[in-house]
Amino acid sequence: MQGVPWMKAGEIERFKRDAEKISREGIKQDEPMSLHTTIAVGGPAKFFAVPRSSREVVELVKLARGRDLDFIVIGKGSNLLVRDGGYRGMVIKIGHNLSRIKLNKQTIFAEAGASFSLLARKSLSHGRSGFEFALGIPGTVGGAVRMNAGAYGSEVSNVLVRLRVIDENSKVWVIKAREIEFGYRRIGLPHNAIVLSATFFCPPGEVNKEILAKSTQRKRTQPVSSKSFGCTFVNPPGAHAGRLIDACGLKGTRSGGAMISKKHANFILNVGENTKASDVEALIDLAKREVRKKFGVSLRPEVIIIGH
Ligand SMILES: Cc1cc2nc3c(=O)[nH]c(=O)nc-3n(C[C@H](O)[C@H](O)[C@H](O)COP(=O)(O)OP(=O)(O)OC[C@H]3O[C@@H](n4cnc5c(N)ncnc54)[C@H](O)[C@@H]3O)c2cc1C
Repeated sequence: MQGVPWMKAGEIERFKRDAEKISREGIKQDEPMSLHTTIAVGGPAKFFAVPRSSREVVELVKLARGRDLDFIVIGKGSNLLVRDGGYRGMVIKIGHNLSRIKLNKQTIFAEAGASFSLLARKSLSHGRSGFEFALGIPGTVGGAVRMNAGAYGSEVSNVLVRLRVIDENSKVWVIKAREIEFGYRRIGLPHNAIVLSATFFCPPGEVNKEILAKSTQRKRTQPVSSKSFGCTFVNPPGAHAGRLIDACGLKGTRSGGAMISKKHANFILNVGENTKASDVEALIDLAKREVRKKFGVSLRPEVIIIGH
């Protein structure tokens, strides 16, 4: 949703009270999003909820829609940049409360808040194949589905069987993967569809050792233990965003507390104390500008940018 209507003090209090009747964990106000994103920058969310059940998610979404309030569902915030002015709506974080995982004979079921890499570890430890690519992807199942996350030639679309989602009318549906159109880091769901759970094809089988080795050796090529949101840009057709940025001589370039990684130019790191989202965005703009100037290529951000 775009364009948040401004709420008067009375309306803010009323909304919070009504939301607290739904959310057993309560509702936070002006919650710093730097605490809920892996790059650890970002202004406050006006309202912040961590639902304990799918039902709570549905009811919170209905409440926000009924009051014409913007909302966004997030997982681990590992592909998210929230601007310094914050998010003037409700952030609904689907995490540990909704993280059930169940192995079936040929498939694996997971609620949206389950860790995507835990799913990979679980499937591997039970002799299942297909999830080797997911080992180093730090988000939740909901975020991975929304991003059609992938690595080393495989992605969510290769393993997804079906989804349970909340649609724009706050109805819960099951959608089969074959009814969905996928693209590179894209899934053809309505903009505001919320993933509640997913079932993936993950049969017993031989592990792909090549992908497994790459997944477990990420540390060599990526700054995985630094504060970042992973790759900043999607790779343009036939090229690598990181190599193009590197060829512009931008590795190690800083803006305030943000820096283009010296190890992998498609990563922007938070290396400062008081780093601002605007520092990070300045580097995003710089990389876009320089790559366009030198190669005539328009880089498209992979990271989702929200807020004011
Ligand atoms: C070190 C590092 C390495 C990474 N490596 C990879 C990689 O190899 N491949 C890759 O694809 N990505 C990678 N990423 C990016 C990121 O981890 C993935 O995109 C991940 O799937 C995002 O999940 P999340 O839960 O953190 O989503 P968030 O960042 O919280 O959200 C991302 C988007 O998904 C939406 N969303 C979240 N949950 C839901 C839900 N339940 N329903 C509907 N929409 C939802 C949000 O609204 C937002 O638009 C990496 C990130 C880091 C920090």
